[in-house]
Amino acid sequence: MATLIDGKAIAKDIRREIAKEAAAFTEKYGVKPCLKVILVGDDPASCIYVNNKQKACEKAGIDAETLRLGAETKTEELLGLIGKLNADKLVNGILVQLPLPAHIDEKKVLDAINPEKDVDGFHPMNAGKLLEGEALLEPCTPKGCIELLKRMNVEIAGKNAAVVGRSNLVGKPVALMLLRLNATVTVCHSKTKDLGDVLRRADIVVAAAGKPGLVTGDMLKDGAVLLDVGINRLEDGSITGDIDFESASKRASMITPVPGGVGPMTIAMLLKNTMLAAEAQNA
Ligand code: NDP
Repeated sequence: MATLIDGKAIAKDIRREIAKEAAAFTEKYGVKPCLKVILVGDDPASCIYVNNKQKACEKAGIDAETLRLGAETKTEELLGLIGKLNADKLVNGILVQLPLPAHIDEKKVLDAINPEKDVDGFHPMNAGKLLEGEALLEPCTPKGCIELLKRMNVEIAGKNAAVVGRSNLVGKPVALMLLRLNATVTVCHSKTKDLGDVLRRADIVVAAAGKPGLVTGDMLKDGAVLLDVGINRLEDGSITGDIDFESASKRASMITPVPGGVGPMTIAMLLKNTMLAAEAQNA
């Protein structure tokens, strides 16, 4: 039976470490590291995410404020607000909660964030730096996956890694990060002919497809390490991942649960990025 990778406990350790860094920063500069979160509209899931982010920041000693804008907000108004936050020296991080209402030009908005304050790591400048292997601010969920592997002492160099999903948010960045750490990486997507054929060769599997139970035990190599990024809400309201936990945990050496695996790491990495941004801006 596989060892459970307790993302909740690992994220808690990281948040504790960040609280120390934030306290040292506040002592040194006389101000707390500061994150501004912009929420447009009142999508219930987004409201929960934003509240969780704000609470986690406050607990870690990071000054966080959520700026709530009406669903009718225009792209230009949002760009104006981002311009002000970009210019404010006391603001270290800016996060625009996605998804934005359909009438807003999401790309234009994300591209307007000063890359030095882009704590989500979505700006093309940071994506380019990630490709070159030298980004300071990397996307939080992929960064959380790598941190889990490191904290569980999983050897990455020389291993075969398979990533299921190729989104700019998760699949592509996590593949680049694994590659940088010298894994041999295969990226799978919806047109991949035989997923099991690829996964059965993988020592590390990162599943980020958004398809409940897509990866089953028979598709896996014995002893594989499994990170399940998927968050899928079932009809009964429960949350499940992309990996069929029951069959997969019989083959794997380590596996993340859903919830309580990769999810908590995303917020921990947001706090980490806010600290990194604050320190870099004051260096
Ligand atoms: P996207 O929908 O943007 O991307 C999904 C990817 O999975 C696509 O590349 C798609 O391929 C691929 N895919 C879909 N079906 C299959 C299949 N049958 N076989 C192989 N590949 C497939 O999703 P995201 O990357 O944004 O998110 C993925 C999952 O992770 C979601 O469940 C999301 O909720 C969750 N998530 C969790 C986070 C966390 O904090 N834990 C944070 C962010 C996301 P193609 O490109 O060909 O369409």
